Amino acid sequence: MSENPMLKFVAIGQDYPTKRAADLRAQDFAEIAKRYAVEKAEEQSARCSQCGVPYCSTHCPLHNHIPDWLRLTAEGRLREAYELSNATSTMPEICGRICPQDRLCEGNCVIEFSGHGAVTIGSVEKFITDTAWDEGWIEPLVPLGDRSGQSVGIIGAGPTGMTAAEYLRAQGYDVHVYDRHDRAGGLLTYGIPGFKLEKHVVMRRVKRLEDGGIVFHLGFEVGRDATLAQLREKHDALLVATGVYKARAIKAPGVGSPGVVKALDYLIASNRKGFGDDVPAFDAGSLNAAGKHVVVVGGGDTAMDCVRTAVRQGAKSVKCLYRRDRANMPGSQREVSNAEEEGVEFVWLSAPEAFEAAEEAISGVRAAKMRLGAPDASGRRAPEIDPGSEFRLEADLVIKALGFDPEPLPQLFDAPDLSVTRWGTLRIDHKSMQSSIDGVFAAGDIVRGASLVVWAIRDGRDVAEKMHAYLKAKASAKAGAREKVAA
Ligand SMILES: Cc1cc2nc3c(=O)[nH]c(=O)nc-3n(C[C@H](O)[C@H](O)[C@H](O)COP(=O)(O)OP(=O)(O)OC[C@H]3O[C@@H](n4cnc5c(N)ncnc54)[C@H](O)[C@@H]3O)c2cc1C
Ligand code: SF4
Repeated sequence: MSENPMLKFVAIGQDYPTKRAADLRAQDFAEIAKRYAVEKAEEQSARCSQCGVPYCSTHCPLHNHIPDWLRLTAEGRLREAYELSNATSTMPEICGRICPQDRLCEGNCVIEFSGHGAVTIGSVEKFITDTAWDEGWIEPLVPLGDRSGQSVGIIGAGPTGMTAAEYLRAQGYDVHVYDRHDRAGGLLTYGIPGFKLEKHVVMRRVKRLEDGGIVFHLGFEVGRDATLAQLREKHDALLVATGVYKARAIKAPGVGSPGVVKALDYLIASNRKGFGDDVPAFDAGSLNAAGKHVVVVGGGDTAMDCVRTAVRQGAKSVKCLYRRDRANMPGSQREVSNAEEEGVEFVWLSAPEAFEAAEEAISGVRAAKMRLGAPDASGRRAPEIDPGSEFRLEADLVIKALGFDPEPLPQLFDAPDLSVTRWGTLRIDHKSMQSSIDGVFAAGDIVRGASLVVWAIRDGRDVAEKMHAYLKAKASAKAGAREKVAA
């Protein structure tokens, strides 16, 4: 009998792909980790203990068949591993790169609990599908049937919209995706920086969808170029997958000073430069950290992306001001460590009180120390000002990264019947995933609030199934009505 290739977690230690040295990676926007060599991917996959009830899979929002594709990888059956991994996800190589695995699959790996260090699931997932692209195993998107008599309109070309578009096109529908940006991908393209996700990885996914017959209408803003009602007339069903983009404000004197900028404006400018676009605000210096003392306010993933972008642009100093402590921040601990290695200084338990400007430009931030009080309704300890603890930080550029709320879609889309929750997210019937308007579905961040790419993919997968059922019912009702008339 051949030896079991798995359960090697005692003999083989956890080994993530090597990160490039911090001083080298701070000079460019390429991804920081190298890819596994085949032997290493096989070796690390072989550490999996093949649990009967795999918690990794339960805690993956896509319920990926993780132990099965780890086993196939360990056995050198890479193409089969790819096919299995691809069966539940539209972009496994992207999740492998940017999922916060420490909170999802890897954080729930049994080997992690036993003190041996989790299987490096995300890195193997990335390796499998990157290899599939290199080897030409990625199949073109081919419709399985012909339902071209029915068309679907999708508003938003982020991971939710792209995923729904892929599954609906595979069913044979005519699929049209509308996005106000000039490139598809949503935050994968213009939010998340290249050092976490290189742009060619996103663009090859977009191209596969275009080659599969999905029509992208880019530079098309719903609300400006069409109302929701006009799109409803054109399509048999609509999906709203517009994400959340209203930046949360800071209320402090001087916040309107030149040099205090929004995180997404800053990140979009940097990503556009990476594509080689003309970005006047970057070239003029207002969205460029080069040679500046930078203060980023916030403690989430967006703040982490801003501080690390500023390092790469050649800032003189980069500080992250956050009102809670390290243990209570929303951003990934892995990203904090990466930022610290690259020279970012975290100023924990601190909040801005005022922004000082000299000669029409920001010159400093006055801040106060905070302490954590009693837990609030959500269970998190609420920060409160520590009296008399004021201090000042020098700053030529301040980036506000406090998170995002939904834009007011009913007004923007001229659709007062579109019902929203008290947080401004779209209200849906969770069984049908339809909004308050018949045939208008909604999914992704615009329903959940700011979330994760893997949840966007899950929602895109689920909503495609609901839309397919709705469209089939609509087609058979139409056919029934025709038969009645003919009879
Ligand atoms: C800076 C940053 C870093 C992040 N890092 C991570 C990470 O490391 N890992 C992770 O899992 N998640 C991360 N996230 C979260 C993740 O990107 C989102 O949860 C995910 O992209 C949501 O997908 P979506 O398709 O719902 O929305 P989006 O990706 O926001 O896409 C929505 C699309 O709709 C378009 N749109 C909006 N309004 C209109 C309109 N009126 N007309 C036409 N088009 C419109 C937008 O242009 C956009 O392309 C990050 C988010 C940010 C902001
Ligand atoms: S999609 Fe994310 S959570 Fe799921 S296996 Fe991949 S890295 Fe883990």
